[in-house]
This record gives sequence, C-alpha cells and structure tokens, in this order.
Amino acid sequence: EAKIIDGKDLSNRLREDIKSRVEKLKQNGIIPGLAVILVGNDPASAVYVRNKERACNGVGIYSRVIKLDENTSQEALLEYIYRLNVDETIHGILVQLPLPPQIDPNAVINAIDPAKDVDGFHPVNMGRLVIGEECFEPCTPKGIIRLIQETGQPIAGKHAVVIGRSNIVGKPVALMLLRHNATVTLCHSKTANLREIARQADILVVAVGRPNLVDSSFIKQGAIVIDVGINRVDDKLVGDVNFQDACHVAGWITPVPGGVGPMTITMLLENTVLAAERKWVG
Ligand code: NAD
Repeated sequence: EAKIIDGKDLSNRLREDIKSRVEKLKQNGIIPGLAVILVGNDPASAVYVRNKERACNGVGIYSRVIKLDENTSQEALLEYIYRLNVDETIHGILVQLPLPPQIDPNAVINAIDPAKDVDGFHPVNMGRLVIGEECFEPCTPKGIIRLIQETGQPIAGKHAVVIGRSNIVGKPVALMLLRHNATVTLCHSKTANLREIARQADILVVAVGRPNLVDSSFIKQGAIVIDVGINRVDDKLVGDVNFQDACHVAGWITPVPGGVGPMTITMLLENTVLAAERKWVG
C-alpha cells in the first residue's frame, strides 16, 4: 500500500521557514511585496487570487491585488506592468491567467522584469532553466520536486516519466528532473504506448487534466507517483490518477486535493521572498 506524500503538511512546514526569512528581511528594512493583476471576472481566477493574497498575509508578505476590467486593453495592462517593474515596494509580479481574448498572454509575460517574474514564465527565466543557470523556477514544478524529495529517495539516476508537456507544468518539470540527474521521458497526447512507457517510471508525474487517465496498470511497483491534475467530477476534486487503484502498486503517491495544489502557492511565496533577498544582496 502506497505511502501518502502530504503536500499540505509539507507546505505548512515550508511556510514556517518562509515566515522566518520574511522576518529577517523586515529586520533589515525590507518588506517583500507581491503584486497580483487580475483582469476580468473569471470566478476560478478570483478564487486563486484571493488564496494568494491570504497566503501572503499568512507569512507577512505585502500583497497588492490590482483588479482590472474585462475590457482592459493590452496597452493599458502593459502600462501597469511597467509601473510595477520600477516600483521599489514590489519584488514579485504575477498576472493571473487566463486573460481575455484582446490580450496576448506572451506579450504580457514578456513585459515583466525577469527579476520580478516569480511565476518563472518569462523567456529569460525559462531559458536560464534550460541551460541550468540561476532563475525563478515555475511554482508548480518547483513544488513537485520538493514533494519527490520528501520521500527521501534520490532523484539522480532514476527514470522519470512526465505525462503532459505544457509550458507551466510538464515541460519545466521535465527540465528540473533532468537538472537533478534523472533520466527523463516526456510524454504527451501523441505519445504511442503511453502505458508501457509509464510503467517503466521510478518517478511518474502526471499533468494532463483527465480524470482516471492513469491507473495501476500504468505504474511500476514501488514508484513515486505525483498527480498534478485538478478535475471537477460530480462536484468533487479529483486528479488524473485513479488514487485507490494506484495505491495498490505505487510506493508513494500524492493525493488530490492536498498534494501538489498547496505546494504551488507556497512556492510562489518562496519565490517572492527569494526576489526580495536577491535584490537585497544586489
Ligand atoms: P494543458 O492542458 O496545458 O496540457 C495538458 C498536456 O497533456 C498537453 O501537453 C497534452 O499533450 C497532454 N495530454 C492530453 N491528453 C493526453 C493523453 N490522453 N495522454 C497523454 N498526454 C495527454 O494542462 P496544464 O496546464 O499542464 O495542466 C494539467 C493539469 O494540471 C490540469 O488538470 C490542471 O488543472 C492541473 N494543474 C494543477 C496545478 C496545481 O497547482 N496543482 C497547477 C497547474 C495545473
């Protein structure tokens, strides 16, 4: 029976550490600040933004939420970003996605100062991640690595299989696993023999957005399984992995909810503190 990797518990422990780093910054006259821009009225986005604001408050990070009208032009949004780029009280800038159709998300991400890009989506940070230089690692992948490390098992030399190749999860987590010296296979919707490949994984990361895509027949005995998916089924949140079934075969597994989810916001807090610390050192 698989051991549960408790993302909520790990998150709480990490937030204690973040709190003390914030304290240290404050003793030196720096209050780490995060600006979150929300465009439009998407209810899910509003919930995410509120959760981020609350999490900031919980560790002593100053948070500024900027709510803009659904019809905001791209030009106007960029103007807000340029102002935040030079605002000394703001160390991290995040634009909540998705954006309304008149705005090109890439143009918006490109406008953020890479030194304040705590989401790690700017091409400069992505590029640095590829070549192995210091960067802001995107929050969900960063949280996934921490969850894997929580098992106490080494990543180096292991076969890691990632299912899903999005720019925010699959692709960066594959690069980060590679940086930790795993042998990495990146699978996606066009992959042939997905089950056979997944079954070879010592570490299996599933980030697709399809409930029950993965069951025990995809899992090697004793493998570490990280379920990134968030799907709403009959008003309940489930992942991409059939949890009950997977538990019979996996060595470790993350639950949904309570696995990757809580870690994502914690990593955002950590990146914001990191941005303030880096600025401080100069
Ligand atoms: P996405 O839709 O951008 O990408 C999905 C990926 O899955 C694509 O690369 C596609 O090639 C692949 N795919 C689709 N069908 C497939 C199939 N049948 N077999 C193999 N691969 C297939 O998704 P995303 O933004 O990476 O998010 C994935 C899931 O993770 C979603 O459920 C999302 O809600 C969740 N998510 C959770 C967090 C978190 O904090 N827990 C953060 C981001 C995303």
